[in-house]
Amino acid sequence: MAESLRLLIIEDSEDDAALVLRHLRQGGYHIDSERVDSAGGLAQALNRKWDIIISDHSMPLFSGKEALKMVRMLDPEVPFIFVSGTMGEDTATEAMRVGAQDYVMKTSLKRLVPAVQRELREVENRSRLKEQVQSDQIILNSIGDAVLSTDISGNVTYLNLAAETMTGWSCKEAAGRPMTEVFRILDATTRAASPNPPQTAVTPNQTVHLRSNSILIRRDGVEIPIEDSVSPLHDRRGRVTGAVTVVRDVTAARAMALQIAHSALHDVLTGLPNRMLLNDRVNQAIALASRHMTKFCVLFLDLDGFKHINDSLGHPIGDKLLQSIAKRLVDCVRTSDTISRQGGDEFVVLLPDVDQPHEAATMARRILEAVAVDHPIGGHNLHVTTSIGLSIYPDDGLNAETLIKNSDIAMYQAKENGRQTYEFFTPAMNARAVERQSIEESLRDALGRRELTLHYQPKVNLKSGEIAGAEALVRWTHPIRGQLSPAQFIPIAEDCGLILPIGRWVLHEACKQARIWVDAGLPLTTMAVNISAREFRDEHFLEGVIAILEETGLDPKYLELELTESVLMKRVEHTESILKSLRARGVRIAIDDFGTGYSSLSYLTKFSIDTIKIDQSFIRKITSAPNEASIVPAVLSMGRSLKMRVIAEGVETQEELSFLLAHECEEAQGYYFSRPVLPHVFARLLEYVNSWRPPIRQRLVESGRG
Ligand code: C2E
Ligand code: MG
Ligand code: MG
Repeated sequence: MAESLRLLIIEDSEDDAALVLRHLRQGGYHIDSERVDSAGGLAQALNRKWDIIISDHSMPLFSGKEALKMVRMLDPEVPFIFVSGTMGEDTATEAMRVGAQDYVMKTSLKRLVPAVQRELREVENRSRLKEQVQSDQIILNSIGDAVLSTDISGNVTYLNLAAETMTGWSCKEAAGRPMTEVFRILDATTRAASPNPPQTAVTPNQTVHLRSNSILIRRDGVEIPIEDSVSPLHDRRGRVTGAVTVVRDVTAARAMALQIAHSALHDVLTGLPNRMLLNDRVNQAIALASRHMTKFCVLFLDLDGFKHINDSLGHPIGDKLLQSIAKRLVDCVRTSDTISRQGGDEFVVLLPDVDQPHEAATMARRILEAVAVDHPIGGHNLHVTTSIGLSIYPDDGLNAETLIKNSDIAMYQAKENGRQTYEFFTPAMNARAVERQSIEESLRDALGRRELTLHYQPKVNLKSGEIAGAEALVRWTHPIRGQLSPAQFIPIAEDCGLILPIGRWVLHEACKQARIWVDAGLPLTTMAVNISAREFRDEHFLEGVIAILEETGLDPKYLELELTESVLMKRVEHTESILKSLRARGVRIAIDDFGTGYSSLSYLTKFSIDTIKIDQSFIRKITSAPNEASIVPAVLSMGRSLKMRVIAEGVETQEELSFLLAHECEEAQGYYFSRPVLPHVFARLLEYVNSWRPPIRQRLVESGRG
């Protein structure tokens, strides 16, 4: 198919024009042409777009040179070829100089087609190149990376849009300036100026990746973390002509990396350093202290009663409280100190510059005070205290693990000493902790080895003198240590969860025993079993009690569960529903150690309690501090008005008994009547005491002590 060609011929001779056309048609072109021979005609014709212009050199009305000038003014690109019969070599060269592409003598018109072909190809190449450059430009400007090019001497030749933004220089302003002025980079750590990047590429003639830890100083002084690479530019013969630098703004990437690094070493809730970072800091402190022969201090904090707040007010409030405490702690210490959250309600404070125990104690006191100030959270004014254990390097440990562990042990001691206080670690504590550990280990086997037994202590009705019931009290015969009291192992069992199987065993054993006595016709009224908080909180507690009653076949009316006040105060709704279910089955509920916890009358009525047991510490006061003993008559009269049984615990003397009788106390329990005894002894007590009348108490005392 013939190529179509829009051709303008500037020619006075119609014959010559026809000749040109004929040649071109023979060359395969389909021609759309126009002929002009005057300036006016040409001006008119140039309104159209032409592929090529062929012009005579000298015409009567017009000169070829004039024509060329006009054409170039309006269209600098269109190929212009002279076809002339008269043109000399000189004029031809001159014509080329002013912008013609070629000239062909009328005598050798066969050259015309190749000349036209070449010019058209040239036009096409030029337009393709232009498109290429345009699209390169678009690409360069649309990428987020900055692209800068430089010449061989390191002067800027080009910046893309991103490079303009990043450096603060426009391409125009930057062009010709040294790269080092436009693109100033520093090492982020040393802040030393980095070598001129294009030079580093030009010299070794290969792509160079800059250190990733670089900072670009923008024209206005703002610092941008960057990462970049430089590649050399070559000419067609492979010689280096400059370099192109590609720069990436890594602010976001670096921030993300920092964020990741931060969260690996910090507690999410409080933002404080975590265990790992603390260990690191303690190790640093050890390195310094051992080099300078100095000491430093580690504080271990555990909040008192945090679990209670968490359980009763919910985790969101608990979390806010922890955050508030974290803030208080941060405000207490120096910036060189490290506060870390170990998890839960435990914090560790490292004081690398404190090497005197009294300074450490001052800090501990300051922390105790700061934590104890009310925390206003979610409409509550929360009050919480903390217990602190302290250990000192190198006295209490040579490595981070031991130092932290020993401060933890000291913290336990502080708790035992009554909370909201601090304790320094001593080796004796360690011995206790080790002992505790060994007790825990042998306790695991105690049930399987049948080392646990139950003793029963009578509760005496002071009016009739009869035994009103039994309290089951667990005993452990340790293979080496011998008989251990519950106070020595129940708290450990609670801590490690062994209280659950132990409690189930106790309940089962006590119910079984009660059933045997009832079946034997012995006058037993109640069998009381102690339930610890941990057991009561267990989600299977209720079903466990029901199952044991079924297994043993004991009528639930004989069973009384002894709970402490603190159990009732937590998770009130849940507690209420469990107590309701128990009472609906006939099980009785007693409050043990009444007066030692948070007493609240409203709870007594809310939970419909059957029995209150006045703690033995108040009974002791009857003789030791009579003016403080007024709580006893107060509880007795309260019990009467609420229609509850009140039992005085731990009655040891005639004096105590007289006081209780004078205040119309109906029931009592204590060594004065009987110590806790083995089942067969208790059975004898039931048999004889309840069938014999006075002097009953005397008999009880004799059997109990005998
Ligand atoms: P508790 O429930 O208040 O039991 C009364 C404690 O006082 C018993 O100590 C008893 O032996 C003692 N006691 C009774 N009369 C007197 C007295 O006149 N003077 C003195 N000084 N003490 C007297 P025990 O058996 O050592 O038990 C201590 C605590 O251990 C109990 O206090 C109870 O809270 C807990 N416990 C005992 N057995 C169990 C059990 O099977 N399960 C659970 N969870 N806790 C138990
Ligand atoms: Mg009890
Ligand atoms: Mg008690």
